[in-house]
Amino acid sequence: MYDDIECPYCGKGFDIDTCDGFGCTEDEVYEQECPHCEKNFIFTVSWSPFYTAEKADCLNGAPHTYKPSHTYPVDFVKMVCSQCDDHRDPTPAEWEQIEKDRGEKRGDWARDGNQRHKVKE
Ligand SMILES: [Zn+2]
Ligand SMILES: [Zn+2]
Repeated sequence: MYDDIECPYCGKGFDIDTCDGFGCTEDEVYEQECPHCEKNFIFTVSWSPFYTAEKADCLNGAPHTYKPSHTYPVDFVKMVCSQCDDHRDPTPAEWEQIEKDRGEKRGDWARDGNQRHKVKE
């Protein structure tokens, strides 16, 4: 977590709630009271887009690097490419590996549910 803004008087950071839900307009001047030193100051907003670039070899001819998602129950696991976010259903061989890794089999959750409600005889 980081603070939205730093008070120009006392230098302490805090969150601005003025913009919540509405979205402040760029180039507008807003007034704000510092909750720490109770001085008033003004601020402006500039929304700078923030990009993070990562290599995605699979978009350049290399194979996708599929990894099983951590979905629960295991029935809904998909193979998700860790680079481009592409996803597909696991192959039978991958299902075997996934079920082994997770220690549960597809359909287990339904069976568990039934067992929980089962009355002991
Ligand atoms: Zn302050
Ligand atoms: Zn990919």
